[in-house]
Amino acid sequence: MLVGLFVFILGSCVGSFLNVCIYRMPREISIVKPFSFCPKCKAPIKWYDNIPILGFFLLGGKCRSCKEPISPRYPLVEAITASLFLILYIKFSLSFSFLKYILFFSLLVVVSFIDIDYHALPVSLCFIGVSLGIIFSLYETIHTITKWGVVNIYTLPIVKSLVGLVAGFGFTYAFKFFGDIFISLYLAFRKKESIEGEKESLGLGDVDFMGMVGVFLGAKLTILAFFLAPFLAIFYSIFALIFKRSHIIPYLPYLSLASFLSFVVGDFILNFLKF
Ligand SMILES: [Zn+2]
Repeated sequence: MLVGLFVFILGSCVGSFLNVCIYRMPREISIVKPFSFCPKCKAPIKWYDNIPILGFFLLGGKCRSCKEPISPRYPLVEAITASLFLILYIKFSLSFSFLKYILFFSLLVVVSFIDIDYHALPVSLCFIGVSLGIIFSLYETIHTITKWGVVNIYTLPIVKSLVGLVAGFGFTYAFKFFGDIFISLYLAFRKKESIEGEKESLGLGDVDFMGMVGVFLGAKLTILAFFLAPFLAIFYSIFALIFKRSHIIPYLPYLSLASFLSFVVGDFILNFLKF
């Protein structure tokens, strides 16, 4: 219980750091220096105003020096990360897997919010993700072999990760390929150049992203995540279509959420569907 609370608080502090990454990485500002500042008046934020989740409410949602409103996204990201830590702690307790998956899902939080702001996936983050996943898998593989020997090559973590990488990437790419053909036929038929400046069904960022998910989740759960994402996105798509008159939505937040759902309850869903 006490450890759970500690993990939650730790998660909220990591969330606070993720906020810094989300804001600074696309702007190419260092994520270590300077310390936190107000994005509007650039005044440094005092440590007692920088308490995760609570700080926002203690300040009444306004910057102490310039009184401009602070985005509620800051406490939201902190609360999401804290909950993520708690759920993964309940699943794994304090273990190697806990460390592996808090790193992975924290990365997904950063990627999702950057996608919301910029409609793009920084390739460097994807590269970091794939590399991290492979390092973790190699470590698990060495551990498995020294303990059990090679029983079945297909169950080795590194093999699962590499198959996941190829499956996530290949599967999403195939969808993009046929989706793009469908869109170009549609555009030719309607004699239009593009749909709001877009000509693609999925971005290449989505393809790279699913490759990265595959390294951590393996082939099955990654493909399940791919099919779960549209169900999660549909409500916001309808909202965007009606209120913003837009067909374009950032998709990585839904792929991220779907990956998390698939990771936590995917085996249950697959059993239910008899896969
Ligand atoms: Zn300010």
